[in-house]
Amino acid sequence: MKRISIFLLALASSLTAGERPNILYILADDMGWQDTSVAFGPERTPFNERYRTPALERLAREGMKFTQAYSCAVCSPTRVSLMTGQNEARHRVTQWTYLSGDAPSSDLDHPTLDPATWNWNGLQPESMPNAISVETLPQLLRKADYRTMHFGKGHFGSAGTPGADPKNFGFDVRIGGRDAGGCGSYWGTKHFGAKKHPDGPWRAWDLDAYFGEDIHLTEALTLEAKREIKRAVDDDQPFFCYFAHYAPHTPIEPDERFAPAYREAGLDEPEAAYASLIEGMDKSVGDLLGLLDEFGIADETLVVFTSDNGGLSHSRRGMSPPHTHNAPLSSGKGAHHEGGIRVPLLARWPGMTATGSTNETPVMIYDWFPTLLGVAGQQQPGSQAIDGADLTPLLRGDATAEIFDRPLVWHFPNFWGPLNRPPVEGPGMGPSSTIRRGDWKLIYYHEDRRFELFDLANDLGETNNLSHERPKQARQLATELAGFLRDRDAPMPVIRSSGEPVPFPGSR
Ligand code: CA
Repeated sequence: MKRISIFLLALASSLTAGERPNILYILADDMGWQDTSVAFGPERTPFNERYRTPALERLAREGMKFTQAYSCAVCSPTRVSLMTGQNEARHRVTQWTYLSGDAPSSDLDHPTLDPATWNWNGLQPESMPNAISVETLPQLLRKADYRTMHFGKGHFGSAGTPGADPKNFGFDVRIGGRDAGGCGSYWGTKHFGAKKHPDGPWRAWDLDAYFGEDIHLTEALTLEAKREIKRAVDDDQPFFCYFAHYAPHTPIEPDERFAPAYREAGLDEPEAAYASLIEGMDKSVGDLLGLLDEFGIADETLVVFTSDNGGLSHSRRGMSPPHTHNAPLSSGKGAHHEGGIRVPLLARWPGMTATGSTNETPVMIYDWFPTLLGVAGQQQPGSQAIDGADLTPLLRGDATAEIFDRPLVWHFPNFWGPLNRPPVEGPGMGPSSTIRRGDWKLIYYHEDRRFELFDLANDLGETNNLSHERPKQARQLATELAGFLRDRDAPMPVIRSSGEPVPFPGSR
């Protein structure tokens, strides 16, 4: 392990400006592990047959597919983890950010628990209450002379705060991103949601030029990105292009360029619309890959594609019953079952990633923070704790998975679901903390302090809770999970009757 670290250090420091690749990082919103024609599971599924994602197939053919990649269960925690390299138990942005103020605005009412004191103001450029303020990925890449560009959804900081604007923490270019966790509409004819509520939170910024046009939000953002990438190439400056799609997050409105074919294939309207949002996003990926070809810079560009959480499944979807839209995984967005956190991940780095390769090592969204800094030859901030591990050995295919022998932890001490309703219930849902070690996974539910223990190698669908059959295994994992949370001073919900926080797992 030490030898590999030294090698990587030498590699990073020997990079010259011309050798530092561009970085195109594409993040889908609420796209599930099965929402693609690329099979991420052990076998192809009906969902893989349903969706058409030729650009993602191209990325898989030309790069590396990670079959066990993870994000958090909802949006903002993942996005802040990517920008900071920290687990959500450390940065404490554990839930989606919404309004600023003295109390969380996105936590729903729970019958017995009060919300944890998490960082509901999100990621901020300067310190403020209930916020994390550290040196961010784009700030550090800018130090390495990268042009840093942000397209699409932000959702890093609460409304009305400096953190609502990605330009305030290191992006040179900002198109479309703000505090909001979604768009009011995908359609230019509806001004992307601004027509009904001109100053409302659900309108994307910077896209007024498309208002009234018959254009999809995904397409408008893609045109903007192509223009800005061209500008960076013309200026001969390496770029970090962070393209955070709004799709396929609600509102599940059809992209009429692609929806008719799905209707003809027999999908009901919500599923045809959902599939069209996926294909529209894939078309954008294909357009950007084509642009890299056109400019002759595909060989000098690392392309990453992933999603910020699992696919929505508890409501607003069609066809399949709730909690089954990510099958064979259980549940969906908002859950600590695999359907909520396991996401597609593809990486293409010519000369580094072997073409058509598959990697089964479990990896976390925050691993990209040290990885991308290494790619850019930029040192990590010394004074800032991070939880991510550099993925470069995996991308090069020159290290065994043993160097990633570490606990993977998710922390969600929150009450989640559509606003003004009770928290969503379902498999793996509810405030919880989760640890994965090897193939074993333990979930600790804050409400009643019960455990679920799964053997993912033999029970990918998490149907067989072994916590009573394997009490020793459960205890060991609970102890390790408690240590991880305690080390990071993780916020916990408060038991209303006693005023005490929910204890860490394994405590009496
Ligand atoms: Ca999301």
